[in-house]
Amino acid sequence: MTLVDSHVHLDHEQFHEDLDALIVRAHQQGVTRMLTIGTGDGPPKLDCAIELAMKYGGVYATVGVHPHEAAKADGKTFDNLRALMKEPKVLAFGEIGLDYHYNFSPPEVQREVFIEQLRIALGSGKPVIIHTREAWADTLEILRKEWSGPGIMHCFTGDEAQAREALDLDFHLSFGGVLTFKTAENVRQAAAIVPEDRLLVETDAPYLAPIPFRGKRNEPAFMVETAKKLAEVRGVDPEEIAMITTRNFARLMRLDSSTSE
Ligand SMILES: [Zn+2]
Ligand SMILES: [Zn+2]
Repeated sequence: MTLVDSHVHLDHEQFHEDLDALIVRAHQQGVTRMLTIGTGDGPPKLDCAIELAMKYGGVYATVGVHPHEAAKADGKTFDNLRALMKEPKVLAFGEIGLDYHYNFSPPEVQREVFIEQLRIALGSGKPVIIHTREAWADTLEILRKEWSGPGIMHCFTGDEAQAREALDLDFHLSFGGVLTFKTAENVRQAAAIVPEDRLLVETDAPYLAPIPFRGKRNEPAFMVETAKKLAEVRGVDPEEIAMITTRNFARLMRLDSSTSE
């Protein structure tokens, strides 16, 4: 079984001690490709994922400013993002979006920085990875107005109606550990209706470990549990989920699916 973790934070300090071993464990479980998210602690440092992608085969990078850090972005940040987008292992732009749960940055600043980044991403032709929390309506309104390319709703935790709205925008939906949580029946219902060619899986590690690891530090090797749950929800074999999601990732990111480097 070969799987792609389409969203992981390998730069996170919780991985500093054992990143080499973590990558070995991921490979042992068939997770041979990982997209590590480049938002880190926010500007001015924007290349933390690129450094890791240069070091490890099968690891790819994104760049972007997370809504939490939107208040740290300035003109120079956007110039740097435009340049970093062109690095060969940068496959996508993100995670960007809106997070009204914490409001670490003021909502109006989050919206401005989100819009600015969508405009930069649009020029690149690469997909955007969207983070949205307690901000669904604003996120959709901005995307409808500003975006016309490929994208991923990362760690999708919405219901069936929201899934349809994202699908109408031509987005892919990426499911993480939440899919395995007892209370997440609405997410499982949403996962059941997503067309096969729009499905992705992710860990969002170190966050949101799937059952039976819930509450522990998450890591890419644990994604097998999420893939199994997704298979159960859709009434197919885990191998089929692995094949479909790996193929979708390669197509969306314009990778040659025959290689893992
Ligand atoms: Zn996120
Ligand atoms: Zn994330």
